[in-house]
Amino acid sequence: MKKVYQLDTFRAISERVGQFNVQGKRFLIPEMNRIGAHLLAGVFRSFGINASVMETYEGLDLGKEFTSGKECFPCVVTLGDILLFMKKERERLGNRFNPENYVYFMPESDGPCRFGMYNKYHRIVLDTFPDLDRVKIASLSSEDAYSLDGLIPKEKMRDFRKAAYLSMVVGDILDRLLWKIRPYERDQGMADKFIDETMGRITESFSKHSCEKSPSGILNDLVEIVREGKGIIDPDIPQKPLIGVVGEIYVRSHLKSNQDTIRTLEKFGAEAINASIAEWVNYTTYDQVRLAKIAIRLNLKKFRLKEIKESLLRYLKYNLTLFHQYRQQTKAYRMARNYIDIEEDHKIGHLDKVLRKNNTFSFEVGTEACLSISAALECAHMGYNGIVNIFPFTCMPSNVTSSIAKPLMAKLNIPYIDVSYDGSFQPGREAALRTFMYQAYQHFKSHGRA
Ligand code: SF4
Repeated sequence: MKKVYQLDTFRAISERVGQFNVQGKRFLIPEMNRIGAHLLAGVFRSFGINASVMETYEGLDLGKEFTSGKECFPCVVTLGDILLFMKKERERLGNRFNPENYVYFMPESDGPCRFGMYNKYHRIVLDTFPDLDRVKIASLSSEDAYSLDGLIPKEKMRDFRKAAYLSMVVGDILDRLLWKIRPYERDQGMADKFIDETMGRITESFSKHSCEKSPSGILNDLVEIVREGKGIIDPDIPQKPLIGVVGEIYVRSHLKSNQDTIRTLEKFGAEAINASIAEWVNYTTYDQVRLAKIAIRLNLKKFRLKEIKESLLRYLKYNLTLFHQYRQQTKAYRMARNYIDIEEDHKIGHLDKVLRKNNTFSFEVGTEACLSISAALECAHMGYNGIVNIFPFTCMPSNVTSSIAKPLMAKLNIPYIDVSYDGSFQPGREAALRTFMYQAYQHFKSHGRA
């Protein structure tokens, strides 16, 4: 009997987690950073897919009820999001509720970490509810740099991919705009109000223009927003210490999970910049190029002609993808930077070099640790006044980051703090962040800033 159950479980995972055609379905996107998920939903809508972003964090109790406490915190939060959404839909629609009308989006990544298991675990939990076994889970994997095969019709895939990537870059730029203007706003609350209002505008722009060949409609709207945003800055407010935020992508970007750490840092006198979302996508593409290079070398050594050709094609494909990503990203940042001095994104190849030079960790090991450690080093070299590592409690790559970055930052005399989250409120957290900001301010006074 047990054997049958296990076989069914595996079948459910292989048949109902994967890449499906989502035309005609309601496509449900979990919120990660405040803006990016909504822009991505706009891109899907522009291509005729009924996508929406689920309310987030309100279902945390449900997420906790169906996990054991050992799972990664983002897995718990997103599980709560989908369970609460389904519960509300069932209540709203009554007999008309049909689980087959929904596809839940949960990407994954390979490598020595648990993100690849979220969608499988969510599948198992959904299957325990009446009818929810019929909700499909759409997944993309970092194993092929988040290829969209199967999710979007082939003829539209190229344009969709470009627009989806742009949505991430624009989300990053608007986040950076907020972090640039909020610490220097003329009146308290202006920056938040402005970003809340513009979110609707730029989402609308993505819904309207993403399917067009040229992104100029979106980029013009972005420039307009950046110009307006700059007007919020009070030029009489003196510069503040600059803090770099690194860490696990979900929790460092998800405001409710990280209890809005950046706002707390700002309360204690910081200007802070979080690592971007596009960084992760660029990294997965870069990693495919790196792996293809290794495969070419190995196959050449063994003189395996067919494999040499395959790895060469793979190398060219991902190199070209990376080139296009960087080109899109550079163009969007350049347009925004014509009006306001937001920080540009690091190139992944540069971060790889930073790590090689420092020789304390390696891209060979993978995971976000290689990005977080190299980004912390890069921020230190650029003249930031402090580094914050934000991550889910028990996150493996982030603990690796902590064990390596903390002594490195101490050696470089850069204030550093780890802040981990699991949904509970720690009474000493604000005091710790305030102490960190005191140190960052001393660093700022004696060294200036980037
Ligand atoms: S990065 Fe951390 S939180 Fe995310 S899946 Fe891996 S171990 Fe879990």
